[in-house]
This record gives sequence, structure tokens and C-alpha cells, in this order.
Amino acid sequence: MNVLVTGGCGYIGSHACVALHHAGHTPIVLDNYSNSHPSVVGRIEELNGTPLTVYQSDIRDSKALARVFAEQDIGAVMHFAGLKAVGESVAKPLEYYDNNVTGTLNLLAAMREAQVSKLIFSSSATVYGDPAVVPIDEHSQTGGTTNPYGTSKYMVERCLADFANANSDWSITLLRYFNPIGAHPSGRIGEDPSGIPNNLMPFITQVAIGRREALSIFGNDYPTEDGTGVRDYIHVEDLVDGHVAALEKRGDVAGLHVYNLGTGNGVSVLQMVNAMNGVLGRDLPVRMEARRAGDIAECFANPAKAEQELGWKAKYSLTDMVEHSWNWQQSNPNGYQS
Ligand code: NAD
Ligand code: UDP
Repeated sequence: MNVLVTGGCGYIGSHACVALHHAGHTPIVLDNYSNSHPSVVGRIEELNGTPLTVYQSDIRDSKALARVFAEQDIGAVMHFAGLKAVGESVAKPLEYYDNNVTGTLNLLAAMREAQVSKLIFSSSATVYGDPAVVPIDEHSQTGGTTNPYGTSKYMVERCLADFANANSDWSITLLRYFNPIGAHPSGRIGEDPSGIPNNLMPFITQVAIGRREALSIFGNDYPTEDGTGVRDYIHVEDLVDGHVAALEKRGDVAGLHVYNLGTGNGVSVLQMVNAMNGVLGRDLPVRMEARRAGDIAECFANPAKAEQELGWKAKYSLTDMVEHSWNWQQSNPNGYQS
């Protein structure tokens, strides 16, 4: 099947292009390169052993979308395109709602016009806000979001639920990601944040390679086992396999489908640092700092529904995730600019 991958040059989308190809599908990418580098295209082609069709376009551009659907026989859409930096979303809410909400509505309208009725949407565990209980299952309350990025994901989920309700022949799948880390085992594609990384793993690998002095650990007074924040880190390769499973198991089943994509394991910041120290064979420089505004203590998934209904389960260990992140960082010390 030809699958339109919006945001296919980004961190997760690029891995999805490889996973789709290996599952026998043909990815067709639409990306505006607002947070990616064109050189990723050659890397994907190298891993797939075949050329990749890429449209340098914006999901908010209706004419461009219409052209893609007219030129390509698209069977389904995986929608990764969007802005994702929490802090930036607080400073630029309009840009976030425009890209993430307006962009998705525009994409949906273009799909309807082209009679493409299978959509897989990149949602996030952030829609659960500060969860009352962990592990979090799909029935947990959503909507207590604390920043415009999270609210934009929640708003899109609501729009898609209403749309699915009104269009009973569509298959719409919301995949709520926990914390994707890691990289393709080859080290050819991976996460390439611009500027100072906000997320833990790219910060750790940049300290390890010497681009940053030390890791600041944001808070060691949380009500967790060692006082540091706990998250559910999932290998990006497992994450994109979850997308292929959702496409294959739910693409032909009409309705709204919702799945957590996580491992079910909570890992603290200190446990992550120790895992990295083990891979490096030396200790990373760290310093304890105050809690980061808006952070929650613990967030990890109950991934049972995805296992039961999609036959999907995360396979990679924490050590694999750390090794692959480090392999990517070492092979590409300055990301795609290397
Ligand atoms: P990314 O920034 O690496 O990739 C997003 C891609 O979309 C980039 O290549 C960017 O250039 C493109 N893009 C952005 N706005 C666009 C637009 N208007 N038109 C066309 N292209 C556009 O991010 P990622 O980490 O790969 O995340 C992919 C999706 O998954 C995002 O929607 C993100 O919110 C969601 N998500 C990510 C995480 C995470 O931790 N990485 C967690 C939960 C959910
Ligand atoms: N964190 C940290 N130092 C950093 C970045 C993150 O201590 O430089 C902590 C953060 O407080 C949280 C965990 O690492 O407890 C994961 O943070 P990240 O931003 O990667 O994911 P999110 O908080 O969005 O789930």
C-alpha cells in the first residue's frame, strides 16, 4: 500500500519510512523541513535500497495536499507532521495550534476530498496530563494538559473522535506515544534536535560526546523510588513497528481506535544515567537542580491493549535503546550536519 507519511523526514517519521518499506508498503513523504534536514532522504533511501518520493510541502497548504493525493494512489496516511517542543509552545501558542490543529484539519479535508479514509495519528501520553494512577491505560482521563503542545494533541484527538463519529466508514487510530528514544541500529537515522535538547536522552548523548558540559537532573525530591522523574522510554523502532501493526490490524476496521505505545516499564532519570554509564564504561557528569516547571513525577503505560488487539509488544531493552542512541550520536556527532 502507498502510505502518505506527513513529517516523514523527522525523527519518528524517518524510522516509519524504513519500517513501512520493510513491511512491503511504499512510503510517500510530505515534509516542510521546518524541523528536519533534507539529507535524511538519502539515508532512508540507503536503508530501503530504493528511491523515496518526497514532497517539500506544508500540511496547511490545501493546494499542495490536493496535488499529492491527485498524483499518488494513497491508501492510508500516517500523520507525524507537527511542532513538538513543550517550552516553545508556551511562547508561541498560535504557531502550535496552527500547525498541529489547523494543519490536521486541513489534512483531513484533503483526505476526504481524495476519498482516503485510513488515518494513523501521532498522539502523546501528554494528553493524560498528570495521571491520577500509573500505569496509565487508554480509559484514563484525558484533557488535563498543561501547555499548548499538549492541548493541541488533545484538541486534535477530540476533532478526530467527532469526525470518526460522523464518518462511520473511516478508520482513525490515535497512537499515544510515551517517551521515544533510540535510533535505527545502523546509526544512519536518529534524533537530531536543533539547539539545546529539551529531552533527556539527546541531552545525555550530547554530554557523553562532549558537546555539553554536564546533565542537569531536574528534581530529586519526587515521590519516586530514587526521587527523580519516572518515564516509559520506548525504542523508536518498536514505536514505528506499532504503527505498521495498527495499519495492518486496524486499517480495515472502521471506527476510532486508541492505543498506548509504551513498554510498561517506568525508568527514573538516575536509572537512565546509570544505563548510559554502563554503556560508556565511565560516569557522565551530572548536577542536581530544581524541578523543571510543568514536570510530573511519574508516567508509564499499560500497553496491554496494543498487545491484545494489534499483536504488538515492545521488544528492545533499555540497554538496546541507550546503545542505539549512543551509536547514532557517535556516528553523527553533529546530527545530519555531520
Ligand atoms: P520531528 O520534529 O522530528 O518531526 C516532525 C516532522 O514534521 C519534521 O520533519 C518537520 O519538518 C515536519 N513538519 C512540522 N510541521 C509541518 C507542517 N506544517 N507541514 C509539513 N511538515 C511539517 O518530531 P518527531 O519526534 O518525529 O515527532 C513526530 C510526531 O510525533 C509529532 O506529531 C509529535 O508531536 C509526536 N510525538 C513525538 C514524541 C517525541 O517524544 N518525539 C512524543 C509524543 C508524540
Ligand atoms: N530531565 C532531566 N534533565 C534534562 C531533561 C529531562 O532531568 O536535561 C528529566 C525530566 O525532568 C523528566 C525526564 O527527564 O523527569 C524526561 O524528560 P523529557 O523531557 O525527556 O520527557 P517528558 O518530561 O516530556 O516526558
